Amino acid sequence: MSEASEQPVDLLVLGAGIAGLWILDAATRAGLRAVGVECAAIGRGQSVSAQGIIHGGLKYTLRERDVAAAGSIRDMPAEWLRMNREPDSEGPDLSRAVVSSPCTWIWRTERLASRIGMLGARAALRSRPEAVKRTDRPVILQSVPGQVLRVDEPVFETRTVLQAIAEPLQDRLVGVSGPEGIEISSRSGLVDTVTLRDGSGEVCLRPEAVVLAAGTGNEGLLSRLGLDAGIAQRRPLHMTLLRSPDLPRLHGHCVDGNRTRITVTSAHDSEGRVVWQLGGELAESGVDRDPATQLAHAAGEIEAVLPALDPASLRNLEWATYRVDRAERRTGQGLRPDDATIESHHDGRLIAAWPTKWALAPRLAARVLEAIPCRAASGTPAPPDLRPLLAPEIAPYPWEEATWTSHQDVRSAGPA
Ligand SMILES: Cc1cc2nc3c(=O)[nH]c(=O)nc-3n(C[C@H](O)[C@H](O)[C@H](O)COP(=O)(O)OP(=O)(O)OC[C@H]3O[C@@H](n4cnc5c(N)ncnc54)[C@H](O)[C@@H]3O)c2cc1C
Repeated sequence: MSEASEQPVDLLVLGAGIAGLWILDAATRAGLRAVGVECAAIGRGQSVSAQGIIHGGLKYTLRERDVAAAGSIRDMPAEWLRMNREPDSEGPDLSRAVVSSPCTWIWRTERLASRIGMLGARAALRSRPEAVKRTDRPVILQSVPGQVLRVDEPVFETRTVLQAIAEPLQDRLVGVSGPEGIEISSRSGLVDTVTLRDGSGEVCLRPEAVVLAAGTGNEGLLSRLGLDAGIAQRRPLHMTLLRSPDLPRLHGHCVDGNRTRITVTSAHDSEGRVVWQLGGELAESGVDRDPATQLAHAAGEIEAVLPALDPASLRNLEWATYRVDRAERRTGQGLRPDDATIESHHDGRLIAAWPTKWALAPRLAARVLEAIPCRAASGTPAPPDLRPLLAPEIAPYPWEEATWTSHQDVRSAGPA
């Protein structure tokens, strides 16, 4: 590609999960000439797998060491709902994103430690979860012991959010063929030019600033730029999925002591079945289990935390697992960072960004825009000519790609 065909841009965002899309949207809204690049499919990795809960800090108050983090996330439920119900020029228009539930439910097992955890959680929260009458609980929670709390933390269908943000950005968001479809010319992390390639052609950009928002892909990008990839960490999960046309919809957490024993979120698959996604402690401890052992363990956990659910009565109940890594800025002890984080080089001309949580993408984008040196001219500048490259697809949900096992097979493989 000749020098003359290099196109100047203010900001180049590498990666189009929730973080990259939110940053691209915010930069465009701020009047910057910004381009986003995705090497696989939008949200591949964490963002399409996320359970979509817009946390307001409750989970962070269960453990003493996490309380500081509650402050950073406290405003997120209201902010996301505003963008869904009354979108304005301050953020992406999420009116077409689907809210699968306006709230989550919290219940407990019978263990004493669990009761202590619930009390601790309630005392530490600013906006307290509300105990509901037995008759106002979801049917499946009517027989669980003790109080059931309703928390105003909405749950979003993740693909619909990604679609709502990506669609208006189509003319400034392109897909390339894998990480090798991005050729970076740089010195000590200061990017000079970036050539983007797919099967049909290439485009060369000269960005003023570059943001790495590639999730686990940030490690490879940092290394390629000659920077320390050790500033990133991964926290792996082994998630469990259930599907049946008869599963009730449920969004919530079973809290046991100071930990979230299980987090359940519900969706519909393309054939109209209800799919449950199980996270929480089950997914964290499940990292050391093989899939068959994880399924047997998950089946036991579901029986223990939801005694009203009779798996044998659900038509065509099937189970699956998948593994996924959470990608974050490294912390001292490998724990979750308290907030969205950025690592800035060359006075903001190269930034590595991690939202830490899906819910914190708005805070991440604000931090990035504050840190980059480019300032917008008035109006929204036209995007560069990105032809022949095309906008990327949105990645499928994990349950659309999973390998499923019947309930009978899970039970017969598990402990008698
Ligand atoms: C199972 C699970 C459940 C979760 N549930 C919740 C929840 O309920 N609520 C919550 O707040 N948070 C949740 N999280 C956390 C949340 O999903 C993540 O914090 C968030 O999605 C990270 O977004 P991201 O855009 O940084 O990364 P990703 O979503 O991983 O996106 C990175 C993107 O970059 C692309 N890419 C990779 N390498 C390159 C490259 N070299 N060049 C260009 N593009 C590249 C990838 O294909 C991908 O599209 C959950 C996480 C997991 C794994």
